[in-house]
Amino acid sequence: MQYPEPIAKLIESYMKLPGIGSKTATRLAFYTIDMQQDDVTDFAKALIAAQRDLHYCSICGNITEEDPCLICADKSRDQSTVLVVEGPKDIMTMERMHEYHGLYHVLQGVLSPIEGKGPEDINIASLLKRLQNDVIKEVIVATNATPEGEATATYLSRLIKPAGIKVTRLAHGLSVGSDIEYADEMTLLKAVEGRQEM
Ligand SMILES: [Zn+2]
Repeated sequence: MQYPEPIAKLIESYMKLPGIGSKTATRLAFYTIDMQQDDVTDFAKALIAAQRDLHYCSICGNITEEDPCLICADKSRDQSTVLVVEGPKDIMTMERMHEYHGLYHVLQGVLSPIEGKGPEDINIASLLKRLQNDVIKEVIVATNATPEGEATATYLSRLIKPAGIKVTRLAHGLSVGSDIEYADEMTLLKAVEGRQEM
């Protein structure tokens, strides 16, 4: 027996989300049917608004309602340091720590030969362009401690160091294979403070 079309469509939509298989998608779809109508309306509106109202910052690649983003626009931040992360979520994590006051750059991924992701597929060119001004003195590479994250860090260091800019890597109190996203604030703070020159 087939599900009625509306629920089949809903299941199909949930399955497009990462990490959600048909079983979970089916459970979520049936749950949605029983939700309060207002909650469903808010949910649908939030989905549409998030995509419509958010853009990528033309300088750092962070998600933002305004361009440039609030961090890039904040001249009181240390303009000489750029912390490079894999995704916008990592910026939120770093900001929660309240100890880093420099700028950011979002790669929007990492180098991954398996997924066919090369340097031109992530935001490296825009980073190099930012480094052409003389203001930036240090690039802190805060990609995750995965093989791809490490390879990306090494790649960036080889590109950037010849320009006379200091390249550092977060100290690894962060365990191997771990994502910055899941690190607690104390661990992150130690990782930033103990960063080492590459
Ligand atoms: Zn920005």
